[in-house]
Amino acid sequence: MTQIIKGHIIYTESPESLTIVENGYLIFEKDQIVGVTDQLPEIYQSLDVEDLGDVLIVPGFYDLHTHGGQYPQCGIGMSHHLLDWLKDYTYELERKFEEPAFAKRVYAFFAEALISYGTLGAAVFGTSSFMGTQILFDTFIDKGLRGYIGKVCMTRNAPDFIIKDMATNIEDMHRLVERYKDQERVKLIVTPRFAPTSTHESLEALGQLSKEHDLPVQSHLDETVDEIKWVHSLYGSESYASLYDQHGLYGQRPTLMAHGIYLDEEEMTLTQKRGVMLVHCPDSNLNIASGIMPVRKYMNQGILVGLGTDIAGGHRISMAEATVRCVQLSKQLSVEKPEYQPLLFSEAYHMATAVGGSFFGRVGKLKAGFKMDCLVIDDLPLYKELYSVADRLEKFVYTGDDRWIIRRYIDGQRL
Ligand SMILES: [Zn+2]
Repeated sequence: MTQIIKGHIIYTESPESLTIVENGYLIFEKDQIVGVTDQLPEIYQSLDVEDLGDVLIVPGFYDLHTHGGQYPQCGIGMSHHLLDWLKDYTYELERKFEEPAFAKRVYAFFAEALISYGTLGAAVFGTSSFMGTQILFDTFIDKGLRGYIGKVCMTRNAPDFIIKDMATNIEDMHRLVERYKDQERVKLIVTPRFAPTSTHESLEALGQLSKEHDLPVQSHLDETVDEIKWVHSLYGSESYASLYDQHGLYGQRPTLMAHGIYLDEEEMTLTQKRGVMLVHCPDSNLNIASGIMPVRKYMNQGILVGLGTDIAGGHRISMAEATVRCVQLSKQLSVEKPEYQPLLFSEAYHMATAVGGSFFGRVGKLKAGFKMDCLVIDDLPLYKELYSVADRLEKFVYTGDDRWIIRRYIDGQRL
């Protein structure tokens, strides 16, 4: 069945500019977009067009790094240093996910918040709990979201109550593979928390698992200077990226690495060669004072960079806010390093929509052949009167909120 909605259609074909079809028709069949045009082709002229009026039809947001189990913790303990924050808040919270009722409550709250702010897909760290991870999966399926869901694997350097031995981790992962292998929209992702909570043996086992079941990978990389020193002290002098690489966890399958603030030349070359996607988490860079990711430098090297909220290192679940902060930080960095041109709004928006969406398949652009995922934005009459369609999109991202989003579609279905 063919459906058609009408409004101002905006997305990014490439980072440098917005592609805009004013008063355009978005034509879709089931879950697929089959056309975007300002003139309705003859074959569709007998069909009903749902004219939504003077609204913006835009892609959804895709959050490539977030910790679902930390959502209640957003904006708490922000005066703590990172390691104390983890000890006093994060680990204590994560241990509670062994209780199904608690996990259900938190993950429903988390998923509803994602939808509310227009995030239609997310790569999520759960916790080390098998039960909790299963509930996170079921919640995403139930809410209709796109997701990559990770059971966090840790075998050392965290409290005993959230560490699992490697045999248990691998067994849990096999059970999750079996249970969710037929899911189209919500998939399993191999998730070592990061190198310091792993060993050579555990990384090797997870690399094998990724290979055996053709599973993507997510983890953290080069977030703080102290963390990098810690990795060198635990594993010897090899680079952080090459450590993941030697265990088959660096681009052998689709891979997301959060932060990646301090990549050296060798790591940049490897990252580009392997097609690993780095995930910039601007709010987290500020809250943790980890440093600012040199996004422009990486882009100039041909490295893929997506965007994430890093809940609860980041305190807001809105990807619109992450987009704004991404532009702001790039401007700040360009003051110290004039060779790194600040990012344009369209570049940051492209990261939050098209680049993020690409990790989920043909998602994140409003063009034929892509999945019918989109948001409908109804801004204020005053702005409609005063500003261009492009300005209105920027206005929404900078100053809008969930109340401006009047519809959300995933795979052609309204949420
Ligand atoms: Zn993180």
